[in-house]
Amino acid sequence: MNTTQNELTPNPGIETIKAYQGGKPIEEVKRELGISDIIKLASNENPLGPSPLALQAIEESAKQVHFYPDGNAYYLKSDLAKHLGVTEAHLILTNGSNEVLTLVGETYLRPGDEVIYAEGAFVVYEHVAQVSGATPVVVPMQNDTHHLSAMTTAITDKTKVIFIANPNNPTGTMVTAAETAQFMAQVPEHVLVVFDEAYYEYVTNPDYPHTLPYVMEDRNFIITRTFSKIYGLAGLRVGYGIAPPSIIATMNPVRQPFNCNAIAQAAARAALKDTDYVKKSQELNAEGKKFLYAAFEKLGLRYIKTEGNFIMVFVNQNGADLADAMMKKGVIVRQMAGYGFPNAIRVTIGRQKENERFIEVLTSLVGMR
Ligand SMILES: *Cc1c(COP(=O)(O)O)cnc(C)c1O
Repeated sequence: MNTTQNELTPNPGIETIKAYQGGKPIEEVKRELGISDIIKLASNENPLGPSPLALQAIEESAKQVHFYPDGNAYYLKSDLAKHLGVTEAHLILTNGSNEVLTLVGETYLRPGDEVIYAEGAFVVYEHVAQVSGATPVVVPMQNDTHHLSAMTTAITDKTKVIFIANPNNPTGTMVTAAETAQFMAQVPEHVLVVFDEAYYEYVTNPDYPHTLPYVMEDRNFIITRTFSKIYGLAGLRVGYGIAPPSIIATMNPVRQPFNCNAIAQAAARAALKDTDYVKKSQELNAEGKKFLYAAFEKLGLRYIKTEGNFIMVFVNQNGADLADAMMKKGVIVRQMAGYGFPNAIRVTIGRQKENERFIEVLTSLVGMR
């Protein structure tokens, strides 16, 4: 036996980490089940496919891939600064917005620090806490929604970071502007608040909080946004953080120099300009939402009203088994056991044909009541 290897121990916190279980890629299901007609409604991807403008930019920029990317993402940052009404110094570009979350961990968290997030929130917050060896402080939700006043109560001298997904994945719920204002009035100076706004562009509720002012007031506040969802570029990995310049300047040296690749930068710039595509995506989502709500009601299934492009629905049986059975019929959705909802599945709102097929298969498996 090689004793040195047995004595090799990972950092504290690492042993408790479970590998991320993503939605199965279509190709994998094809390989494993030998079926071909498959739809994937499992990872909240844009069902319209990428913007044609982004595709064009991808082709163009592919000719230059022998060069390293611009490590400062000059043009994309400049476009985003104009788009958002902030300065370039307020922005950090990343390999998907997930990388902003891991950068927060690398920059600010160490063993002994506490990280607050909600039970049933996006799983990456737990991951960030575990990797850094910080202590997770998990606060139960109220009505499937982040319970901000309970999260305030959980703050101690050791609290370093609070993660809030707004809207939350997988519940699709949001905290309101009033709740957020009250929360921000109570959060002490030593705490960094991270608002994960991956689904920002899908939100329709007028009570949604506009969080940019907290950044402009130089609060310890980071907003994360992404090109993976409405902008249809999940496969390219590009997202960003918006924060006060001092926070950006602190995090920037921590990232890898070429974290945001050249094709992703070019595609993101093009997608950002394609306002027709964004509008079409929003409209498709609104129609699909209405269709699916009605179908769930007809089936007598409880669902949670969503501000995103996905819906969590309670299926009165084991969600993992149901998701498995649906997959065998060529419809990939997500089971929610890992999020603490064993009797639910989450479905991404697709194109009308996909939504119909999903409901057809769901109906055949849960039966009419
Ligand atoms: C999908 C998603 C993200 C986006 O991750 P990327 O790394 O930008 O692809 C971030 N937060 C939440 C809550 C999400 O659901």
